[in-house]
Amino acid sequence: MIGSYWFDAEPAPTLESPRHAGRVDVAIVGGGVTGCAAALRLAENGKRVRVHEARQVASGASGRNGGFALAGGATRYDVARETYGADAAKELWRWTERAQERLAELAGDAFRRTGSLRLAADGEEHEQIRAEYEALREDGFDADWRDETIPGFHGAVFHPHDGTVQPARFVRRLAAMAADAGAEIREHDRVASVDELDADQILIATDGYGRGLLPELDEAIWPARGQVVATEPLPERLFDCPHYARQGFDYWQQLDDGRIVLGGFRDFSIMDELTDEEKTTPVIQEALSTFLRELTGYDPPVAYRWAGIFGLTQDFLPLVGRVPGHDGVWVAAGYCGHGNIPGLGCGELVAEAMLGRDGDAQLELFDPARLL
Ligand SMILES: Cc1cc2nc3c(=O)[nH]c(=O)nc-3n(C[C@H](O)[C@H](O)[C@H](O)COP(=O)(O)OP(=O)(O)OC[C@H]3O[C@@H](n4cnc5c(N)ncnc54)[C@H](O)[C@@H]3O)c2cc1C
Repeated sequence: MIGSYWFDAEPAPTLESPRHAGRVDVAIVGGGVTGCAAALRLAENGKRVRVHEARQVASGASGRNGGFALAGGATRYDVARETYGADAAKELWRWTERAQERLAELAGDAFRRTGSLRLAADGEEHEQIRAEYEALREDGFDADWRDETIPGFHGAVFHPHDGTVQPARFVRRLAAMAADAGAEIREHDRVASVDELDADQILIATDGYGRGLLPELDEAIWPARGQVVATEPLPERLFDCPHYARQGFDYWQQLDDGRIVLGGFRDFSIMDELTDEEKTTPVIQEALSTFLRELTGYDPPVAYRWAGIFGLTQDFLPLVGRVPGHDGVWVAAGYCGHGNIPGLGCGELVAEAMLGRDGDAQLELFDPARLL
């Protein structure tokens, strides 16, 4: 039990994982979406793979998140165009749309395409999301503008390709697929140092949880905590797709069974939330309860409260590729709170690069050398 609705509400299926004797081609640290996606791709391509997971598959952010499956990255599209360049931003958005298709292919009933609503909490945010909407339309992406929103908000962008994922169910499935393809998945196996791994290549796939593995990565990826609540199922239907507002600080959705999953308000004590301590705090939990009351008009019973850690980077892009100065060591981490889709994409991307197929333009944008 980790406190998360996704992780605790349904039992993990028994993982039938093979055991490899001795040295392997690739050792992966971390059994979340990134590590499992990479393991699947590598094992399907004939590599002997061993995944080392300190706890259980999906017990990190992959089993503790908000369940949003969004295209794009952590940066608004119009800002991404200015920051990373028009072509790079466009290719990044397209690449995440392809990763969404891949999620739909792999996830079965763990994914539902509902669209998502990015809401403006005030006039300033209205201008910002309007700019994002216009930039997306200019570049040929699907997005709809909504003037009418739920009370208290000032316009929204509807993203029709987005959806909702039961992240723990999805990642457990990915792990099972990787094991079927021949990857060894070792749970309850914490790696103290990459030097202890008996492998030709190593992939660090620990997002915000990897502190202490490599000092350079500790400098470049900062842990940040997010807190979430899930209510008991509510009789009334209030939200038909994932909603998020205040630059993504707050996010909520109502599941098929009527339950509301709500996370956010990290900015209410932002310095305290720059931590990898996986615990809930009164300040954030009270903010979540207050907002829940605003959304529903009453105090719905809360069934689950949990915290999870994600990795932040300086430019809000993940680090994916070789770690400079460490032969054979690779990383795919630092999704800045947007890892469900990019985690799947980056797990496969880094696996392709480790297989020697490293022509993808995304690898250049995500090159760890830019921050290390
Ligand atoms: C509260 C919260 C809400 C979020 N909401 C969303 C959302 O709605 N949509 C979205 O796209 N993204 C969201 N994210 C981000 C997303 O969950 C993550 O970016 C993504 O799950 C990262 O997956 P991962 O496999 O890279 O890392 P993780 O899932 O964090 O897995 C890393 C694993 O590494 C293991 N590990 C760490 N150190 C070691 C070691 N030394 N030895 C062995 N194992 C180790 C950990 O136990 C962990 O299981 C959220 C994150 C949080 C915390």
